[in-house]
Amino acid sequence: MAQEDVFKKIVAHCKEYGFVFPSSDIYDGLAAVYDYGQNGVELKNNIKQYWWQSMVLLHDNIVGIDSAIFMHPTIWKASGHVDAFNDPLIDNRDSKKRYRADVLIEDEIAKYDDKINKEVVKAAKRFKENFDEEKYRATSPRVLELQQKRDALHARYSAAMNAMDLNELRQIILDEEIVCPISGTKNWTEVRQFNLMFSTEMGSTADGAMKVYLRPETAQGIFVNYLNVQKTGRMKIPFGIAQIGKAFRNEIVARQFIFRMREFEQMEMQFFVRPGTEMEWFSKWKETRMKWHVNLGMGAENYRFHDHEKLAHYANAATDIEFNFPFGFKELEGIHSRTNFDLGNHQKFSGKKIEYFDPEENTSYTPYVIETSIGVDRMCLAVLAHSYTVEQLENGEERVVMRIPAPLAPIKVAVMPLVKKDGLPELAQKVVDELKYDFSYQYDEKDSIGKRYRRQDAIGTPFCVTIDHDSLQDGCVTVRERDTMTQERVRIEYLRALIDKKVSLTNLLRNL
Ligand code: ATP
Repeated sequence: MAQEDVFKKIVAHCKEYGFVFPSSDIYDGLAAVYDYGQNGVELKNNIKQYWWQSMVLLHDNIVGIDSAIFMHPTIWKASGHVDAFNDPLIDNRDSKKRYRADVLIEDEIAKYDDKINKEVVKAAKRFKENFDEEKYRATSPRVLELQQKRDALHARYSAAMNAMDLNELRQIILDEEIVCPISGTKNWTEVRQFNLMFSTEMGSTADGAMKVYLRPETAQGIFVNYLNVQKTGRMKIPFGIAQIGKAFRNEIVARQFIFRMREFEQMEMQFFVRPGTEMEWFSKWKETRMKWHVNLGMGAENYRFHDHEKLAHYANAATDIEFNFPFGFKELEGIHSRTNFDLGNHQKFSGKKIEYFDPEENTSYTPYVIETSIGVDRMCLAVLAHSYTVEQLENGEERVVMRIPAPLAPIKVAVMPLVKKDGLPELAQKVVDELKYDFSYQYDEKDSIGKRYRRQDAIGTPFCVTIDHDSLQDGCVTVRERDTMTQERVRIEYLRALIDKKVSLTNLLRNL
């Protein structure tokens, strides 16, 4: 099946099984806004917990906060967002569709990469075990020609983005003969800048209402609380502040489901360090964050770093952790060395001194910052997309199973009496009472056991526990495991330990 079709199936599955619904569904939705259903919210909460505990519980020098979404508007002047949080947009006159100019060009660069990879795959098939990929890439005239074109385009694009040269961006689109995917024409407008912040008014207009913004990132809530936290927590550098919260961006190219939303959630951690040590901390956090991802068991080969060439206005180093989504490797998390740009500017704009007295160095300075920033929703999508599996069973049937990492699964265990009589529901209730304080569970007594298993597979429940007539005699139940579909008889009093071993967040954290 084409990747695009797989993605469509995942989106449909998410709706059908209560993970993600379009916002305002009965009014036909609201573009790029989504609601989480009964299973989606559990998954999301588990992801947030895994992140929060890995930051705040496992580091004695990281604390959390929860700052307000509304903030003083000057904050967004100081942070640079009022002046520089822009996307370069271009319209196609025929289709009337609007695109991000940078995305159009990046897609074009990706096409060259695809072409090169196809050549390599073709050659590998031709030369079989004698194939030397490195040599082939360095000598094949066709690959070299494509690589040279790709690199030239990339260099031109990076230069244009660094200078934010809008005319040059347009010229690249024309020179590369990029067409609108809808109209198929090259009838492009000029490129314009578009600010991504939502604004609203606070207070009544009679009093002279104040224009406020919905925060486009949670980070500024941390920066403006730096002094509060450092003083009240008696924090010593290096230390970090973590936060999970909503962010809002008026994204123009809003597509790809919960990958790019207008209202989304971020998990950000700002780590304050002594100036001059930031590169060391940058690499430490790169490594720590990659470990957090790989620890989930979704395959180390599905992650990669992508270092930025165009740095944001505040950064002196930046990298993305990219994940292999159904539509290719894309940013899942950003790790940025933000220098003292933010704290320095807040000092300037607020007039409050934001400095740290370093007793070891016997000097005061404005700390430097390493930031790790990941979208909860993108992380949900990574997990959902990776977990979605369609399997052909031996009996010819098909099962859709969500192989969600067990500690993140919305429901950990399903409890099912084989039949709705003979005292089996009563014993099943006892099993529920044994498990419900530790694990999210579902009780299901409807339909055949096979159908009930399918329902749990579809939402990714790691364990199904069946109570049958023998259970009444021997106090044992059948435990069926989601991924292998193997079944074993287990004494009811051992159930908790058996389930916990696999689904425990604590065990996941211990492996970090
Ligand atoms: P992109 O280049 O994809 O627009 P970005 O570089 O602007 O992302 P950051 O500002 O670094 O993103 O934000 C940090 C993280 O927040 C991203 O890695 C992503 O996981 C998440 N994120 C950013 N924008 C969105 C969005 N519109 N919808 C969902 N998640 C988002």
